[in-house]
Amino acid sequence: MAAEKATTKHKYVYGFAEGNKDLKDLLGGKGANLAEMTNLGLPVPPGFIITTEACKAYLATGAEPDGLAEQVATHLAALESAMGKRLGDPADPLLVSVRSGAKFSMPGMMETVLNVGLNDESVAGLARQASDGGPGSGDRFAWDSYRRLIQMFGKTVCDVPGEEFEHALDDAKRAKGTTNDLDLDADDLRALVGAYNKIFAKHTGREFPQPPREQLDLAVRAVFESWNAERAVLYRRQERIPADLGTAVNIVAMVFGNLGPDSGTGVAFTRDPATGNQGIYGDYLANAQGEDVVAGIRNTVPLQELERIDKPSYDELLRIMATLEGHYRDLCDIEFTIERGKLWMLQTRVGKRTAAAAFNIANHLVDEGIIDLDEALHRVNGAQLAQLMFPRFDLSGSPEVVTTGVGASPGAAVGRVVFTSARAVELAGQGERVILVRRETNPDDLPGMIAAQGILTARGGKTSHAAVVARGMGKTCLCGADNLDVDVKAGRFTVAGHVVNEGDVVSIDGTSGCLYLGEVPVRPSEVVQYFEGSVDPATSTDPLVVAVHRIIGHADGVRRLRVRTNADTGEDAARARRFGAEGIGLCRTEHMFLGDRRELVERLILARTETERNEALDALLPLQRADFVEIFREMDGLPVTVRLIDPPLHEFLPSLEELAVHVAVAQERGEDPGKDQALLAAVRRMHEQNPMLGLRGVRLGLVIPGLFAMQVRAITEAAAQLVAEGRDPRPEIMVPLVGAVQELETVRVEAEKIISEVTREHAVEVLIGTMIEVPRAALTAGQIAEAAEFFSFGTNDLTQMAWGFSRDDVEGAFFWRYLELGIFGISPFESLDRDGVGRLVRIAVEEGRAARPGLKIGVCGEHGGDPESVHFFHEVGLDYVSCSPFRVPVARLEAGRAVIESAGSDSR
Ligand code: PEP
Ligand code: MG
Repeated sequence: MAAEKATTKHKYVYGFAEGNKDLKDLLGGKGANLAEMTNLGLPVPPGFIITTEACKAYLATGAEPDGLAEQVATHLAALESAMGKRLGDPADPLLVSVRSGAKFSMPGMMETVLNVGLNDESVAGLARQASDGGPGSGDRFAWDSYRRLIQMFGKTVCDVPGEEFEHALDDAKRAKGTTNDLDLDADDLRALVGAYNKIFAKHTGREFPQPPREQLDLAVRAVFESWNAERAVLYRRQERIPADLGTAVNIVAMVFGNLGPDSGTGVAFTRDPATGNQGIYGDYLANAQGEDVVAGIRNTVPLQELERIDKPSYDELLRIMATLEGHYRDLCDIEFTIERGKLWMLQTRVGKRTAAAAFNIANHLVDEGIIDLDEALHRVNGAQLAQLMFPRFDLSGSPEVVTTGVGASPGAAVGRVVFTSARAVELAGQGERVILVRRETNPDDLPGMIAAQGILTARGGKTSHAAVVARGMGKTCLCGADNLDVDVKAGRFTVAGHVVNEGDVVSIDGTSGCLYLGEVPVRPSEVVQYFEGSVDPATSTDPLVVAVHRIIGHADGVRRLRVRTNADTGEDAARARRFGAEGIGLCRTEHMFLGDRRELVERLILARTETERNEALDALLPLQRADFVEIFREMDGLPVTVRLIDPPLHEFLPSLEELAVHVAVAQERGEDPGKDQALLAAVRRMHEQNPMLGLRGVRLGLVIPGLFAMQVRAITEAAAQLVAEGRDPRPEIMVPLVGAVQELETVRVEAEKIISEVTREHAVEVLIGTMIEVPRAALTAGQIAEAAEFFSFGTNDLTQMAWGFSRDDVEGAFFWRYLELGIFGISPFESLDRDGVGRLVRIAVEEGRAARPGLKIGVCGEHGGDPESVHFFHEVGLDYVSCSPFRVPVARLEAGRAVIESAGSDSR
């Protein structure tokens, strides 16, 4: 056994026949699916895959792991024998592509090198191979392929600035008096290879490597390293892709779509990735390489045209697409190449889609009997639902459509035009809404795309870089508006006789593909109207409404978590109830101390005697009671958690600086500052260095006599009034910022007295519970549960205090650096930090329920509406989550998905 172990080498390389689609962790998405297609008997060019583990080992040590070189040699030999050619053979060279392929697709973010195996000798062999009979007819193709290799290899592997190659290409075209690459003949391209070699040598201090295996090894290394390229890191952060997965590397025999008119390349979808409609969608480009389509450099023709151009290939492609969709039971996207009439599949994967398409496709597949409702629910998510709730353009004013392009990622975006990524970032940083306008985008534009409201390009289709990346981010994108003449240098574009300068406002519709000048008003989405109850799903002809209704209905049927809302007004409560809220999880009472009630609050704070204080409280009581009556009425029959006042009282007084100036000016003028003098003294007295850790929450209730008592009375009287009206109020009184059971006990004793006094006539059950938002409360939850009938996690404060991060400051101040360093992938204020704050939550749930079995527990911090966090709260066994009204449908959906996913749907 020991001897066997010693000789068993780690397997770092897999032939296509050895893999399958479930090995994405190890082989990356592209490799796993190439393997799957190979095993389905589809025409995939032969190749092999270097695993993500090899990449991780390389990135950890800076060197290829032991055994990798030999394993590559073995698989290369097998590839050579399958193709009947040797890599870079001068007479008849095998050429390969070297491509990245991570577990999750990261379009255009990592590196690719094509035509590996070409060198000064094999270029002649390739020319012979590519010739269609006429003497020298393959020369142009071979030299063009060679110059592409030096260019890609130089830029990718050796960091030679890409513009240098571009300039040399431009010079060659200028010398020839043309602007079209295709006018360069074999001699021109041979000369260009000479120029490229000089550029390569100047920047690297060495000649372009001739040995094919050396080219291959260096290209593999560059792909490994591209995992940590700046743009890849940024993309992963944006898409929440873990930083430690590494990429696999696919080494595949080259096939050529640029060998003449009977060759070409394309991208296809088995359904429309924008709407989810059934049918064949895609783009085709004759006599071109795949990169030309994806980069959106030349405009493509619709895939249906291929039927006219090459019917046998088209028919075969349709057959393969049907096979793939049946096999994957989902929308597939495909890249293919036709080399002289022979169809080759270069890639497939379950296709990215818009939010609307995700719901529509899941619903169709249920109708078609291909998946069940559980799986339909699994295949959509809360982020997509949130996108569908975005507003759309209101076209009732018939704004002029100045041009149309491809609606590549839906939504309605309005903003000022900018032409560079840097300017987009700059203006967005100043709070401007911007639209990034480019001829076409490339991965360097990513920061600007993130900063912009929307992206507008003149070139490229649904599969261009701009389209794919924007869809992934859920950002509005209109591309391929080809009568847009973009002049980046001059900072303007022209379209249909209009000149649009940087800073002008445009509106882009990523669904219809329409561009409007100026600001077009927006209207709410149909999905929101459905949730509002103004669209009836039973009679609606909008497929999206039907799909959302069905899938969210299923989520409601399976979910265990209840969903409540955070609402402090009757209006918000009513809206949230229409959105499906099953109660209020947090009614913050502090807004009830603002507006025209400030004056009463000032009187309360400035009171010098008990009588003065009581007069202020007595005046506030009926106002508070009226607020609660309104809210209980809207939430009749459902629980309403009212939280006693939380922020420090001085927040309700004018600012120290302003008051001080006022008083000083009055004194200077010899006037009497009057009550401002007393106010100033009060503000000074109450001033705190760390108000978030100061006199707030329960501490305030213990320090200002009668404050909490007034609120408890207002809540209970409001409930009693509604009971008298025959209604069913369910009040729950929540004490904020408790850290010790004694604090809660003290409030509780006083509150119970008032409750029993008020409810003598009209029986109302009033629960008393606490927020768990101070770490000490979580750690002593067993004790606190003795005095609490329910817990609600205030994860905003809990995060603040667990990390020691001031919640009002840190996100703007330095989180960018933490995100850059990967200390966390997303702000812990946005998505719950499972390891730290989540641990506190677990402890409190376990110890709270151990002390008081059946203790009702919820969460009312921002995390209650965050999809990832909802799954965590399901896992730890909370009873409900509470979130803002617009997040309620998202939380309902995710609570359902959490059940499906925890039931072991990993095997899907
Ligand atoms: C919390 O801290 O999570 C909470 C809900 O309370 P607030 O945000 O009002 O402090
Ligand atoms: Mg709080």
